[in-house]
Amino acid sequence: MTQIASNHQDTIAVRAGVGSDTQFGAVIPPLYLSSNYTFSDLDQPRKYDYSRSGNPTRDILAESLAKLEKGAGGVITATGMSAILLALQLLEPGDLLVAPHDCYGGTFRLFSSLADKGCFDILFIDQNDTHAIEQVLLENPKMLWIETPSNPLLQIVDITELCRQFGENVIKVVDNTFLSPIQQTPLQLGADLVVHSTTKYINGHSDVVGGAVIANTPELHEKMSWWANCLGITASPFDSFLTTRGLRTLDVRIKQHIENTKHVVDFLQSHPAVEKIYYPGLETHTNHHVAKKQQSGFGAMISFELKGEIANVKQLVNNLSIFSLAESLGGVESLICHPATMTHAAVPVKDQIKAGINNNLLRLSIGIENCQDLIADLEIGLNRSQLSLIEEVIDTKASGIPEKQLQGENYV
Ligand code: PLP
Repeated sequence: MTQIASNHQDTIAVRAGVGSDTQFGAVIPPLYLSSNYTFSDLDQPRKYDYSRSGNPTRDILAESLAKLEKGAGGVITATGMSAILLALQLLEPGDLLVAPHDCYGGTFRLFSSLADKGCFDILFIDQNDTHAIEQVLLENPKMLWIETPSNPLLQIVDITELCRQFGENVIKVVDNTFLSPIQQTPLQLGADLVVHSTTKYINGHSDVVGGAVIANTPELHEKMSWWANCLGITASPFDSFLTTRGLRTLDVRIKQHIENTKHVVDFLQSHPAVEKIYYPGLETHTNHHVAKKQQSGFGAMISFELKGEIANVKQLVNNLSIFSLAESLGGVESLICHPATMTHAAVPVKDQIKAGINNNLLRLSIGIENCQDLIADLEIGLNRSQLSLIEEVIDTKASGIPEKQLQGENYV
C-alpha cells in the first residue's frame, strides 16, 4: 500500500488504499473477489494464496484502521462479535477475564456462555467502583475488557488509569465501537488491543456487518492474524471494500453526528417528559472530566429515561417518523432503540437492573439528517408519549371509572 504522508486522521481515512493499484493506476483500489491465487512455481506462493488467510482488499482496510488506531496491525473480521471472539483466543481455561457489568448485550452473552463452558472465568464488575477493582486485582486477572462509553448507559471509565492499575501482565482490550478512532485511540492510552464492530460508525451506512481487532505490537498482531485464519472468521472482500468506502467519510460524518447530537441533547434537557439523560458531554455526567481528557469528542449516542411507564415508551416510539425503531447504531440515519427488549434482551433482567437498564430507558443513535427535523420528530413523539395517557384518563373519567384507579405509580 502507498504510504500516506500524513498523521491527520481525516487524511488517513480518506486516502485508504488510494493510488495503490499499480496495474492500471485506478484511483480507488480494485476489489479482489478471487478466493485463491496462483503459485508462481512449486513451493512458491505469492503474497496471497487463499482469501481466508489474506486478501488485498481486506488488507487495505486492516492497514488503514491500524494507522487510525495508532497500532502495529489490524485484522478484519466478519462481524464485531467475531472480533471479540478473536481477542478471547488469548485466554486459557482458568484465566480470569474482568468485564464491565454494563457492556453490550451480545458481549455479555458471549463472555457468560464461554465461561459456562469452562473456556475461562469471568467477573462482571462496575469498573468505576474502586473497591470492586481492588478486589478483582487480588484474583490475578489475565484480561481486562473495557467498553467506554458503555452500551447503552454511556458510562465512561478512565482507560489510562485502569490500564495502569491492571499492569503490563494483564491483556487490556478496549471496545472502541461507540467512538471510532476519530474520537478515541485507546492504544495510546495503554491498551494492548482495540476491537470494533465496524458495522457501526466505521462503515457508517448500515449495509455491512463487520469487525476489527487492532494490536499494539507486531507479535500480538501476528497472533490475532493466525487465529483469525485458523477460526475462519476473516471478513469477505466485498464487505471490506464497502467498509473502506464508508471509512473515507468517517471524519466528516462524525463531525456532523456530534454537531447534531449537541442540539438534540439541549432539546432533551428542556423537555418535561425526559426524566434523566445519559451523555458524557454533559457537565453533570459523573465522568465528564474523564471523557474530556481521553476523547476528542463526546460521541453521538444518547440514552435517556422517559417519564412514565412502558405504555409511554410505546407511545413515543410509535409517534416518530424520522427516527427508526431499530438495533445497531452509528449509521447516517437516526435510530431509537429500547435496550431492555432489544440490544440487551440477552442480559438476564436481574443483571439489567444491576447495570441500571430499566424499562423506561431509550437509546438514540443520532444521524446526520437535518437537526431541526430530528428535534421536531422527537418533540412530537415526546409530547404524545405523555398525552395519550392523559387522554385515556379523560376518556375513562367520562366512562365513570374513579380517577385514582387509573393512576399507575409512575404516572405523570
Ligand atoms: N461491541 C459493541 C459495543 C456493540 O454495540 C456491538 C453491536 O451492537 C458489537 C460489539 C457487536 O458487533 P456486531 O453486531 O457487528 O457483531
